Amino acid sequence: MLNVTPPAFPAPGSQQRAAAGARSKVPLKPGRSLMDWIRLTKSGKDLTGLKGRLIEVTEDELSKHNKKEDCWICIRGFVYNVTPYMEYHPGGEDELMRAAGADGTDLFDQVHRWVNYESMLKECLVGRMAVKPIAAPKEVSSIVSEDKKQLNGVLPEKKVLATSSAKDLSPSYDWFQTDSLITIVIYTKQKDMNAELVIVDCRDKQLRGEIIMDDHSYLVEVDLDHEVSEDVAGNFCVLHHFLNIAEKVGKVEIILSKKDNIHWKMLGQPQEGHNTFIKCTDRGLFYRKCKLVSKTQVTHDTKLFCLMLPKGTHLCIPTGQHVYLKQVIAGTEVIKPYTPVLPFLSLDFQEPPCHDGVHIYLMIKIYSHGLFTQALDHLQIGDYISVSNPEGNFKKSQVQTSEDLFLLAGGTGFTPMVKLLNFSLTEVSCLRTVKLIFFNKTEDDILWRNQLEQLALKDERFEVQFILSQPSKEWVGKQGKISSSLLSEFVKRSRRDSKVLICICGPAPFTEQGVQYLKDLGYSQEEIHTFTA
Ligand code: FAD
Ligand code: NAP
Repeated sequence: MLNVTPPAFPAPGSQQRAAAGARSKVPLKPGRSLMDWIRLTKSGKDLTGLKGRLIEVTEDELSKHNKKEDCWICIRGFVYNVTPYMEYHPGGEDELMRAAGADGTDLFDQVHRWVNYESMLKECLVGRMAVKPIAAPKEVSSIVSEDKKQLNGVLPEKKVLATSSAKDLSPSYDWFQTDSLITIVIYTKQKDMNAELVIVDCRDKQLRGEIIMDDHSYLVEVDLDHEVSEDVAGNFCVLHHFLNIAEKVGKVEIILSKKDNIHWKMLGQPQEGHNTFIKCTDRGLFYRKCKLVSKTQVTHDTKLFCLMLPKGTHLCIPTGQHVYLKQVIAGTEVIKPYTPVLPFLSLDFQEPPCHDGVHIYLMIKIYSHGLFTQALDHLQIGDYISVSNPEGNFKKSQVQTSEDLFLLAGGTGFTPMVKLLNFSLTEVSCLRTVKLIFFNKTEDDILWRNQLEQLALKDERFEVQFILSQPSKEWVGKQGKISSSLLSEFVKRSRRDSKVLICICGPAPFTEQGVQYLKDLGYSQEEIHTFTA
């Protein structure tokens, strides 16, 4: 909830008035009310000029931003660009300018320290103040020496000392404890954090917390000093308060419950990848064992496998991404990619970031001579299989800016389309048309046909077209293989210049040919997304 009283700074000589609760107010221009400010902050406009980046600000840098048209202010270690806010500030521009390019915490506190400026100015957040180095730089000490740290909004000194200017944007972490809880705080220095970007695995005394930031990954990996309670660490999504994400400031808190209420001298022993910020591709895949809880027939050869994440794991698989399954088959580790789906297609709920936070659904075709799928099909309910962290290069923003979405699927190439469909129809209001063109051999091979037809009835923006390459005589629908003529018939912009996204997935030759036909039809590379491993 936003606090309705905006932050203000005392005008010259106003301290007594402020103490008595009075404030100097200036008349605001039309269109500059609090509601107008809230609207502006929600408009998606870049109010810092930093395109969503959070930076570490030195005193020297702060002092340079001291003009009305370029005014930064520091409050409790956080720096805000208040220039866009000037005209909306009930205390007037002059009042704000008193703290221009400086630390305004004391001035702010004199007037009303209770004001929720963090919420009011969250879109103006530039970053955190860097702490001045006061001693010779030294190596980052291990977490062994990090007990009893007080978090007061200022980065621990040694973290800053250890970061060279090139690493200033690297995330950092800290931890603290109460009698019953251990809280690990990760400062990502990146706006728009969300639950999909945080992967936590806590098992026995092993804690692994990974944050995905574009193509980079930050890792906290510790052999904990003492045991934590599984009940509390588990089911992060269900018990939301065990993973707190301050989306706008990019702060992630992992909260663990101590098994015994004793004082921890340290967080634990750092493991190999601990406190590193590297490219995701250099990280290596992490697997956890998931339990097979159900197996449901979808078609004659395809099944829906439901896997349950272990307690203490928080893992949401983003739309358009796949995981790797690992099994030991005949003494050899075999790994294959699969794309998680939803348990069913429905428009009755907004896609939660991770469905229910506990189950992963996979729609898998069992090939009669398939090495992996045969082994998978032989798993019994209650057996375990290793599931990796997600991977994939699809970005939701590709859909969020589109007006027409075309999904071309061949066989199980339908799997990435499931979450994509749900996301598009429930969360992307700018989409005018969503069309699935689904290629299969026979009618019996069509996955979730009934659900797709129901969905088309429910949402008039959605249309499904089934095309069969080996139909029976009874089939009255479309037939053929992916071809230029079929694509020109079904892939059409709803307006001459409408923004279009075409996603394609299926057997590799199907996808390759599809892309070529689309290019021949005049669609650009940017308008086509192929799902690949
Ligand atoms: P293999 O032992 O590799 O093949 C044995 C025989 O099975 C082949 O000779 C052939 O006759 C048949 N066969 C195997 N694979 C294919 C194929 N791709 N096309 C046609 N015939 C084949 N599959 C799913 O079912 N669901 C998914 O969600 C899914 N997601 C994927 C995501 C990505 C990113 C990629 C790259 C692939 C995905 N696949 C998916 C395919 C999956 O990874 C395996 O390739 C598939 O399960 C076959 O593995 P297998 O070891 O059983 O077959
Ligand atoms: P399938 O049933 O064999 O085929 C589905 C449709 O594609 C059929 O109409 C088929 O027609 C057509 N097709 C197959 N090969 C073709 C080719 N060379 N050229 C043109 N059309 C072709 O498919 P499937 O067994 O379900 O396999 C699905 C594929 O999708 C797998 O290869 C899987 O690896 C891939 N997949 C990829 C991802 C990903 O994210 N990258 C995700 C899921 C699945 P005909 O065979 O009759 O010609």
